Amino acid sequence: MEIRNHILQGENINFILSPNRGDFYEDGALDTIIIHYTASGSAASAIETLTDIDRQVSAHLVIGRDGQISQLLPFNVIGWHAGVSRWGIREGFNKYSIGIEIDNAGMLEEKDGNFVSWFGKNYPPEEVVKGVHRNHTELSYWHVFPQFQIDVVETVCKMLIEAYKISHILGHEEIAPDRKVDPGPAFPLDDFRARLLPGPHPLI
Ligand SMILES: [Zn+2]
Repeated sequence: MEIRNHILQGENINFILSPNRGDFYEDGALDTIIIHYTASGSAASAIETLTDIDRQVSAHLVIGRDGQISQLLPFNVIGWHAGVSRWGIREGFNKYSIGIEIDNAGMLEEKDGNFVSWFGKNYPPEEVVKGVHRNHTELSYWHVFPQFQIDVVETVCKMLIEAYKISHILGHEEIAPDRKVDPGPAFPLDDFRARLLPGPHPLI
C-alpha cells in the first residue's frame, strides 16, 4: 500500500469520489487525524450516506469490518466529517484534519438480554464491549471493533503520519464532546495514539 497523488493505492482499496467536499487545505494546516465510527449496519450504507449530495457529510476513508478500505476524498481536500468542533484553542476541525470512518454500529442498548443498535439491529454478546465512555460516568454497551480492522486503521494512520506530518490523532468524541460519542470505549484510542505518536502532544 502506498499514497500516490493523495490517493491510497494497493489491494483491498477502492476510490469513490464524494461530492461533499471543501477546498484544498491551506499550506501547513493539515496536522490531525479524526477517528469516527459510522454508526451504520455496513460500510456500503455508510458510503452511500457519505457520498449523498443531500447529506452534506463525507470522510476521507471508510474502513470496513473486513479491512476493505474505501477512499472518498483525496488527502489534500477538506472533508465534512467534524462539524462544530473544538479542542484547545482550535475550532472547526475539518480544515485541519483527515477523517477516518470505521464501520461499526456504535452504542448499543440492552433490551431483555439482546444488544440493539440505534437502527434496530441485534448484536450477539460476543460482538459487544462493555465500558464507560470518556465523556460519561455510567457503564454502557458498544459494538466491538475486530482486531484486524483496528490493525488496518493503524497501518493507514502510520502512512498518513509519514506523508502529512500529522501530530495529533483525536476522536470525534473529544472535539465535539457535547454531541458525539464516536469512536467510543470499544476503540482503543489512547493506546492507539500513544503507539503512533509517542511523546508529549500539547493542546493545539
Ligand atoms: Zn464522527
